[in-house]
Amino acid sequence: MPSSWIEIDLAALRHNFDQARQRLPAETRIVGVVKSDAYGHGMVPVARELVACGAGFLAVSKFWEAQELRANGLSVPVLVLLGVEGGDMEEAVRQSVRPVIYRLDHARVLSRTAAKLGMRAPFHLKVDTGMGRLGVPWDRLEPFLDELLALEAIEMEGIMSHFSVADEGDKSFSHLQMERFRQALELLSRKGVSAPYVHMANSAGLLDLPAAHFQLVRPGIMLYGSPPSSELHHPPDLLPVMCFKSKVIQLKELPIGRFVGYGRTFVTVRPSRIVTIPVGYDDGYDRLLSNHAQLLIRGMRAPVVGRVSMSMITADVSHLPQIQEDEEVVLLGAQGDDRITAEELAGICGTISYEIYCNIGKNPFKYFFNASAEPE
Ligand SMILES: *Cc1c(COP(=O)(O)O)cnc(C)c1O
Repeated sequence: MPSSWIEIDLAALRHNFDQARQRLPAETRIVGVVKSDAYGHGMVPVARELVACGAGFLAVSKFWEAQELRANGLSVPVLVLLGVEGGDMEEAVRQSVRPVIYRLDHARVLSRTAAKLGMRAPFHLKVDTGMGRLGVPWDRLEPFLDELLALEAIEMEGIMSHFSVADEGDKSFSHLQMERFRQALELLSRKGVSAPYVHMANSAGLLDLPAAHFQLVRPGIMLYGSPPSSELHHPPDLLPVMCFKSKVIQLKELPIGRFVGYGRTFVTVRPSRIVTIPVGYDDGYDRLLSNHAQLLIRGMRAPVVGRVSMSMITADVSHLPQIQEDEEVVLLGAQGDDRITAEELAGICGTISYEIYCNIGKNPFKYFFNASAEPE
């Protein structure tokens, strides 16, 4: 039995997928974004469940993640959002993985490789409409397209862009990005090409910008049960999927005036009952949570007191006289009628739920519940 572990509720994942599905026209298909180990939730079991729910595509950041999906029997189209390097291109084509293209040299390798294999390789062209990160800048697309379209043995299965502020209340920049994207689509049709799959929407775009639905949408965070921000115009009804649990390894009664933890940042101001829990920043429990976070024990909240150390934390359960050693503790997720959300922890750390999930999700002990079908 590990000292801390993660429980993944696949029924909650299905609920969240349905929340996405309900907001989409029937012809719009869903790309399940499972990069970064499905935001820490476990890529392969999550991907299997999303495909069982009806996700038509999966998206990962890196080619090796796509290979892992294939090695585990997932055969749906997989997008590699960061693109595929030249050295991996042949394997990508063989495995029918779709590289996102934003560099001509990658496109040339893709073309040569596909021609050599006697295949036509699908790819998705990424247009930067204002995010300023990855993609061909929208105002420099034409010369890029001219060279791209001259290549043999490749076909533009998709054209995509990405929002930078779709989760903010003010949608004006997102509308500008959509306008630039539409110009890119017009340029494409002037060149006599069309991509069957046009896509732009992340979770925030899916929820708040119906005009960005097109043929595919790419939700990530909402599938895992968190809204992309608190500023949405149409907040969805989501269920968190991840629960992070541990156990009390020691309970001690301390008199008044005793210090707890590194740096002596906490001192008992009354006779206190302090529990020690084998979770620390090495387990993704951020050190910024020291003296600020709460956890759940017997369905009640208890404050984390003293510093978070590498593999331990301490909490004050003086108000809960019934607590004993070996008792289960919830650091993220629900217990009884209460819940610690990733938003709550993120607020304390000055970050976003995404990072909380990724960090806690590094825990190697994951248990999956409520799968719609038993894995073969
Ligand atoms: C991560 C990512 C998404 C998903 O974003 P969420 O905010 O988690 O919904 C969509 N598209 C791209 C290109 C991404 O990198």
